[in-house]
Amino acid sequence: MGRDMAGMDRRRVAFFIPGRGCGRRCVYCDQLAITTDAGGGESVTPGAVRETVAAMTGPVELCFFGGSFARVERAAFVAFLDAIRAARPGSAVTFSSYPGDFDGEYGRQTAQILKRYPIGTIELGIPSLDPNVLKMCGRDDDPEKIKRAVVFLRDLGFRLGIQMMIGLPGQSAGGAMRDVETLAALMPETISWDFRLYPCLVLRGTELEAMWARGAYRPLGLDEAARLSGVLLLAAEKLGFNVIRVGLIDSESLKKSVAAGPYHPAFGELAMSEKLALEMFSKNPRGPWEIGQRNISLLTGHGGRGIKRLAELGGMTPEEAMSAVCRI
Ligand code: SF4
Repeated sequence: MGRDMAGMDRRRVAFFIPGRGCGRRCVYCDQLAITTDAGGGESVTPGAVRETVAAMTGPVELCFFGGSFARVERAAFVAFLDAIRAARPGSAVTFSSYPGDFDGEYGRQTAQILKRYPIGTIELGIPSLDPNVLKMCGRDDDPEKIKRAVVFLRDLGFRLGIQMMIGLPGQSAGGAMRDVETLAALMPETISWDFRLYPCLVLRGTELEAMWARGAYRPLGLDEAARLSGVLLLAAEKLGFNVIRVGLIDSESLKKSVAAGPYHPAFGELAMSEKLALEMFSKNPRGPWEIGQRNISLLTGHGGRGIKRLAELGGMTPEEAMSAVCRI
């Protein structure tokens, strides 16, 4: 369920349009592998989307993910947007796009079209703002252009979502943190932007797999990725972002495609347990800690990863750390 700025609930309906509008492929990307089990695919048509939303009884948040939506051929782009007209009042469209789609004259024309529709959130793929990292990933390597697109959309009143990555070729932990801070500084004071964080995985058949095979790329380890995610998520939340997802949606197709890297079916939970441990430690290094029931599993799940990390941070045993936790 999504919620708009006026507090109205909308049911999320996601359509995946793998690779559409991308033009070229980023070195780590295989959208077919990561979205085919999640619903949708290359066969998604505007007509099918319209039928789906028309059949829904309440407001929907119609989402287009998996490609660069604003670069989908214009006629199809408009037809996909038009599908929202068949939905109940209060519905909106959310989509992911490449920041470069909103640069120059093409970007201005795209924004004019979007202004005719109820837009929920525009999610921008900004894996990094480091020109060297962007170049190594086969993406547009001009961070200024990315920031310009962010400001352009922000100033037109669009709500944004940021999709960041960690463990990219040439990327450092410090660089990723600087990127979170830079993007937070662009966020308006009155609106919280969404934040998604994805660890870079080596998927079969990608350019990144070839880089990894010849020793030109070293993926993050699982624990390393969880720890870095925890630090970034905590920072992102403190800076005002609304964290909505960590890690890719798990699926059989994804599992089969991973050649290397920090894959875990519940990566988001590992990252959130790290974040919780860091948060608890920073508030009170040795406890006691008052924890809501729904957070207990973040401490005790996955072999007690969270409580072990808390104990490690506080210089105590996991048993001592657990005895300092009060359930509320
Ligand atoms: S722009 Fe996004 S969807 Fe398209 S190839 Fe790059 S990572 Fe994949």
